Amino acid sequence: MARLNLRHSQNVNGDFYVDTTCIDCDTCRWMAPEVFTDTGDQSVVYNQPANEQERLKALQALLSCPTSSIGTVNKPQDLKIAQSSFPILIEDNVYDCGYHSEKSYGGTAYFIQLPQGNVLVDSPRFAPPLVKRLEQMGGIRYMFLTHRDDVADHRKYAQHFGCQRILHQEDITADTRDVEIPLAGSEPIQLSRDLFIIPVPGHTKGHMVLLYKNKFLFAGDHLAWSQELQHLYAFRNYCWYCWSELIQSMRKLANYTFEWVLPGHGRRYHADAETMRQQMQKCIQWMEVN
Ligand SMILES: [Zn+2]
Repeated sequence: MARLNLRHSQNVNGDFYVDTTCIDCDTCRWMAPEVFTDTGDQSVVYNQPANEQERLKALQALLSCPTSSIGTVNKPQDLKIAQSSFPILIEDNVYDCGYHSEKSYGGTAYFIQLPQGNVLVDSPRFAPPLVKRLEQMGGIRYMFLTHRDDVADHRKYAQHFGCQRILHQEDITADTRDVEIPLAGSEPIQLSRDLFIIPVPGHTKGHMVLLYKNKFLFAGDHLAWSQELQHLYAFRNYCWYCWSELIQSMRKLANYTFEWVLPGHGRRYHADAETMRQQMQKCIQWMEVN
């Protein structure tokens, strides 16, 4: 619960506020950009929601904030509506789980609803309202973990849903030593007809991305859209393994077709396949001089 006595002084007056426990993870700013903004190292409310749609988005951000730093002065009567809006549809049968976890520094997790069994990509917080919704949508067959940073509540999900966790063995730690499907090597692996696992070492040694239908790329911390640069990029300052390998991995990935980049951290990006191809080249050019 956010605390009113810690209310950030730069919030605009009104019901919604951010307190000073904010870790600047950016989640609220992309979920509800009409309401939340950046003050440099923390988020604040700069506009109170002006309509139903903005209010729903602000409540979704409140529920997704990994540190519970967003609050309302008045108890929200419509919180249940916001809870039941998760997971949020992105396109087709692909969803944004919300409920970010502080254990993964607010990384985004995704859900793919499939007839042969659903896939959870990385780990949201194990929040009962979300767990209930995922049960209603058919549970989880696979939990695809892009890399060691964004595993958060993986164990609780595995125990509750009996899903099989997939993680590259180079990224297995003491916490994830019992994952059901450890993968090895650098060759792409086909998980099902439409699902390809592509190892992309760089950010971490065992980082992998998941490509669904040659349309959705679940990019983990390999690739994201930069608001500041206004193009696709990789995290130069948060590269834990090897920048030159990351560039190699990006060149490999540029040979694939996709229209959505859905990252763990950073902003998502959507474009037609040709524009995406050009963006990938721009990203690689930028990486080579950084
Ligand atoms: Zn990471």
